[in-house]
Amino acid sequence: MIIVSACFAGFDVKYNGSNNVNVKIKELFDKGMAIPVCPEVLGGLSIPREPAEIVGGDGDDVLDGSAKVLTTTGRDVTEQFLKGAYETLKRVKEAGVTMVVLKERSPSCGSTMIYSGKFNGSKRPGNGVTSALLKRSGIQVVSEDHFIEYLERMDI
Ligand code: SF4
Repeated sequence: MIIVSACFAGFDVKYNGSNNVNVKIKELFDKGMAIPVCPEVLGGLSIPREPAEIVGGDGDDVLDGSAKVLTTTGRDVTEQFLKGAYETLKRVKEAGVTMVVLKERSPSCGSTMIYSGKFNGSKRPGNGVTSALLKRSGIQVVSEDHFIEYLERMDI
């Protein structure tokens, strides 16, 4: 059993009310082998919602209190992103899973790249808030690309 970004499993939880369905990951969900979570919804944000980016650092800096998560109109949603990260960690622990597959580039779910905080489409290396917290807690966080490569290597 693994935990996955809910948008991969076809749930319309993205900021714009759509999803990032991934056929392989949805197949695992349909077979009962993947539990979907959306940290931003768990943090109390609505669907749809304004897009947000981490300003002043990455998810680790948000956990350490030196960066914030802001929306395109400047609303501070750091608290909701932190709440979503801790709620996700709680679910990961309850499910006893050791691997989580999260959507790259998201300010919550990114695990190697996130949007830069400049709101111009540029990206920077770093973790989203949830990925940072999960990694600090010893959970293996992988992106969709790495996970699909892994499935192909294992011939799954
Ligand atoms: Fe998908 Fe994560 Fe964004 Fe939720 S927070 S929509 S699960 S990428």
